[in-house]
Amino acid sequence: MKTDTTIPVPDYIKAIAPYVPGKPIEELAREMNLDPAKIVKLASNENPLGPSLKVKAAIAAQLDELTRYPDGAGFALKEKIAAKFNVDPTGVVLGNGSNDILELASLAYLPAGTSAVYAQHSFAVYMLACQARGARHICVPAKNYGADLDAMRAAIAPDTRVVFVANPNNPTGTMLPAAQIESFIANTAPQVLIVLDEAYTEYLTPEQRGDMLALVKKYPNLMVSRTLSKAYGLAALRVGFAVCSPEVASMLNRVRQPFNVNSLAQAGAMAALDDDDYLRRSKIVNDEGRAQLLAGFAKLGVASIPSFGNFICAEVGDAARINAELLKRGVIVRPVANYGLPKHLRISIGTQAENAAFLLALNAILA
Ligand SMILES: *Cc1c(COP(=O)(O)O)cnc(C)c1O
Repeated sequence: MKTDTTIPVPDYIKAIAPYVPGKPIEELAREMNLDPAKIVKLASNENPLGPSLKVKAAIAAQLDELTRYPDGAGFALKEKIAAKFNVDPTGVVLGNGSNDILELASLAYLPAGTSAVYAQHSFAVYMLACQARGARHICVPAKNYGADLDAMRAAIAPDTRVVFVANPNNPTGTMLPAAQIESFIANTAPQVLIVLDEAYTEYLTPEQRGDMLALVKKYPNLMVSRTLSKAYGLAALRVGFAVCSPEVASMLNRVRQPFNVNSLAQAGAMAALDDDDYLRRSKIVNDEGRAQLLAGFAKLGVASIPSFGNFICAEVGDAARINAELLKRGVIVRPVANYGLPKHLRISIGTQAENAAFLLALNAILA
């Protein structure tokens, strides 16, 4: 078999380092010959509660429709989102996860010859989305591990079409106050699309969060992205959405796959958005788990970046070694050296038992 290919590939595609997801439980079980039931995975910022019973029922009720294509316009789900968040349904775009939303923005607005601005230590997909299009990416040094909005505004070039801002940010967990974000939006040229990624916004208090969705009416170059993968507990289903101006929505819809969100995902998302009790419990478990982990870190003398998401970025020192030791003990967390943080590990906040198992293993390694 020939292994070399003569099909030309652009250099910007060859330059892409593929996204590295959290290690799957089954993979570690195979590699280390461990019982998968005993493995603790705190590596992908997943909801530790397990799925909402209402979501499971809604998906089950949809199974007889599997032969039909989904509603490509996602009418009912968009109406629900619009009603729940008080936004215009014509400005809602559904995504196969919010990752898809970020991709759609790059497909529509970042052809080769343009550029995007994002912060150092911010979500890897911003760079990947630029690279896949051959757009230039401008990575602005972080301030206290978070986005330096003033420096980011200054870095906007004449060819810049998109600025990506995550709030709270992954993997560092940092948060920018709502007033700072609004001031950034107000002072950014209207020809630049601001993609505000609020994947973890449900973990904030209403005061911390502000109402960025309401700003979309005032600033047509603002696009807010949300996901059901984190606090709503639907990472496997792949549902996210953008709230933007009808004009931006119409551009994203041109490059969107016609059936990018499947029927089970649409049905599950509808139920999840109605399950306020699940969301409330998610936040409580997360707040308690954060306190538990921080208390454990304090005992071990481990510093961490103040976190506003469902994960903590802890400075452990030789992160590669400690990660390898954790894996041997059946604990999966996330190394973040690829984010320029070689001394840190990102630990997703789990159930009380999962957090305790992680702390026990960390204690044994550091002792
Ligand atoms: C997890 C995450 C997402 C999106 O995840 P999806 O599952 O694709 O919705 C987006 N942005 C940030 C910052 C994230 O951490």
